[in-house]
Amino acid sequence: MDPGKHLVIPPGSNHHDNARKANRNLQWLGEKMPPRIGSAVFSTLWNRWTTQRRFQKRGPCLLACGSPDGDSIEHYSRCPVTKRLCRQHLHLDPEVFATLHAFVLAHPSIWSQEDLATLGVLIYSVYNVTNRIRSQGASREIVYDALVQMCREGVKGDPYAMKILAARWPSSTNTRLPAVSLLPWTKKTKKLREQRNQM
Ligand SMILES: [Zn+2]
Repeated sequence: MDPGKHLVIPPGSNHHDNARKANRNLQWLGEKMPPRIGSAVFSTLWNRWTTQRRFQKRGPCLLACGSPDGDSIEHYSRCPVTKRLCRQHLHLDPEVFATLHAFVLAHPSIWSQEDLATLGVLIYSVYNVTNRIRSQGASREIVYDALVQMCREGVKGDPYAMKILAARWPSSTNTRLPAVSLLPWTKKTKKLREQRNQM
């Protein structure tokens, strides 16, 4: 399985855990961050990016990394330019946050409010910059600056979000997110799982 194209479920977790984490994280972003960020993240979770891949076509990466068929969420989530933005501007570990698993808010290493908020800013920036380049075009040289500028626009006018982005450097203290309450397996679900495992 190609981890760039498919979600790889880490050992010890399952789809139920991932769905609950993603749902909890989406709710948190919706409550704490500007609506424009919640909207970009929602569009990502529901595969609403108008990429070539979505229409079963191929097109080059609009962030100009050189990937000939990179116009897809799967690619943008782990594009070298996205990784650079994580490293140089957002103080996010690209190994964790520049992944499809993080772009759908389900990565198990998203544990702090600050990182989750900043991930929302990252998704907002990549989503909007690729949209603008798709409709208006852009020279290769300005792509990275456009991403940085879009991060600033994402938090504009929202004191909480602006404070989080400003505190990414040099480093900030992280506040743990509330734990996800994992519902215990019901007897019925347990039975179904046992039956499925026997098949
Ligand atoms: Zn790329």
